[in-house]
Amino acid sequence: MKCPYCSSEDSKVVDSRDTTDGVRRRRECINCQERFTTYERLQPVSLYVIKKDGRHEEFNKEKLLTGLRKACEKRPLNAGAIEAVADEIEAELVQMGKPEIPSSHIGDMVMNHLRKLDYIAYIRFASVYRDFTDITDLKNEVDTLLSYQSPSEAQLTLPINS
Ligand SMILES: [Zn+2]
Repeated sequence: MKCPYCSSEDSKVVDSRDTTDGVRRRRECINCQERFTTYERLQPVSLYVIKKDGRHEEFNKEKLLTGLRKACEKRPLNAGAIEAVADEIEAELVQMGKPEIPSSHIGDMVMNHLRKLDYIAYIRFASVYRDFTDITDLKNEVDTLLSYQSPSEAQLTLPINS
């Protein structure tokens, strides 16, 4: 923030006031002691997704929701659970503070959330996202899923292989 009088970059905030669409700050230049006003506005976050083929596409929460709903179809989930996942993913993306995010990264985030939410939804999503070509891929994913469980839980639910 440069001082409009002397271009010094050192200023201190002497007053700060919330306005309807942001914050208004009175600043005092450390160098020349002149005062000036700045406005800080909330800006809608624009986030771009880099697709596998290199195309950029604006992040679209509705699209994310559609994918989630498809994976969670007919699963016994609490009302709002899917929307909550979409909200969390969006918040995580915003928090990363990067203008562009590879779609594979978002896919991994979805997988992480679905794993906690519903295993069937997770496998459904994985089968599309990971492009399962045969039953071995599916088995590997299920094995990975089971390996996330605590050892005691896994012992209870898995047949003993040895
Ligand atoms: Zn100044």
